Amino acid sequence: MQYYSTNKQSSKVDFKQATLNGQAPDKGLYFPERIPILPKDFIENIISYSNEEIAYQVIKPYVGDAIPEEELRRIVSETIKFDIPLVKVTEAIYSLELYHGPTLAFKDIGARFMSRCLGYFVNHSAMLRADNKKVIVLVATSGDTGGAVANGFFDVDGVDVVILYPSGKVSSVQEKQLTTLGKNIHALEVNGTFDDCQQMVKQVFTDEELNKKLFLTSANSINVARWLPQQFYYFFAYKQWAQKNNPPVIAVPSGNFGNICAGILANISGLPVKHFIAACNANDIVPSFMQTEKYEPKKAVATISNAMDVGNPSNFVRILEIFQHQFINLKKVLSSCSITDAETKDTLQKVYKTEGYLLDPHGAVGYLALEQYLKNNPSEKGIVLETAHPVKFYDVVEPVIGEAVPIPIAVQQQLLLKKKSTKIAAEVDLLKEFLLSL
Ligand SMILES: *Cc1c(COP(=O)(O)O)cnc(C)c1O
Repeated sequence: MQYYSTNKQSSKVDFKQATLNGQAPDKGLYFPERIPILPKDFIENIISYSNEEIAYQVIKPYVGDAIPEEELRRIVSETIKFDIPLVKVTEAIYSLELYHGPTLAFKDIGARFMSRCLGYFVNHSAMLRADNKKVIVLVATSGDTGGAVANGFFDVDGVDVVILYPSGKVSSVQEKQLTTLGKNIHALEVNGTFDDCQQMVKQVFTDEELNKKLFLTSANSINVARWLPQQFYYFFAYKQWAQKNNPPVIAVPSGNFGNICAGILANISGLPVKHFIAACNANDIVPSFMQTEKYEPKKAVATISNAMDVGNPSNFVRILEIFQHQFINLKKVLSSCSITDAETKDTLQKVYKTEGYLLDPHGAVGYLALEQYLKNNPSEKGIVLETAHPVKFYDVVEPVIGEAVPIPIAVQQQLLLKKKSTKIAAEVDLLKEFLLSL
């Protein structure tokens, strides 16, 4: 499989080079030159396949011969080594719990897959060894990416990880997850917003001087090795979906739009889905676009679903690419809405009190978006992707439900560890200095 850049200036590359580069040299995002179509009987008989086999079949065409079969099967099975249950909440709404991985959020899946692919490439690449450059994974996080990437890459041989996060704007559990590992994991606490962090990362990627000395790559959701494996659990959801003749509407709490873009890709490949809903918080760039057809990035505003506080969702261009920028076709598949913090809290409380099901703030945004959609489409049923464990946001959740959320033992232990971060101002030169000092 070859990948082209959405800016159409850079040359095409294979999966390995797309993973190593992260972003294309012309600052576009890599996109597969064709979307594979899965055999009909694979979809029809999905119940008879193991999750490992499903994931392997889904990713294989995207990887091509960049990774040998045996290695790829190992990477896939390590990636999905935890439960991804579809849990019934009401007659019409099911929750796909994506939070049973090591950092309690869906980003574990993309991060685990990418770290293992990169580890494989770094240790099997004559070119990289000959260059003798330090390999650094750079990532800006609005919350959950940092922890998942830190965990996924911890102790991976030959790779250093630098994580930028906005000071004071991530939850205490999130902060501990990305600042307490040490070794090859370095946390930069930036005095600014997530968009500042993302901007700094984007700038150093195109800095010629720096790229002569270091091999820089990204672990943000723009990297194909993080983005593409997110298709896996849409297939796992369908495998667990009882009414195969009435496919689900799927609501995805969205920030950078990597997750929902992977779902739409799976759908184009043959996975039955009725409709997608991109559920956003107050950062309503895409909901506005779906109304006006005008894409207007804004400064991100802080909300209680902070992993979705994104003012210029980087993966949205990939969704446009899937539909070849034909708005009419996009509109048939995707709706989008914006949910306030007050509505998020109400939903969290209501679903807990009436259904006994505890959502996290991101899942609550998705839940309400789905509920509103189903109100207008009463014959449909749907799935909300529950993207994080509620305990990750206990500071928001506990006052809303008036109860303590039991903290899993692994998280309790993490909270006791000492935070190790380097504070810096939101200036790209300071980031460059830090990278050169590693
Ligand atoms: C990252 C994240 C999101 C947003 O996912 P995108 O792929 O960026 O749209 C939603 N919920 C949680 C808990 C997250 O960590």
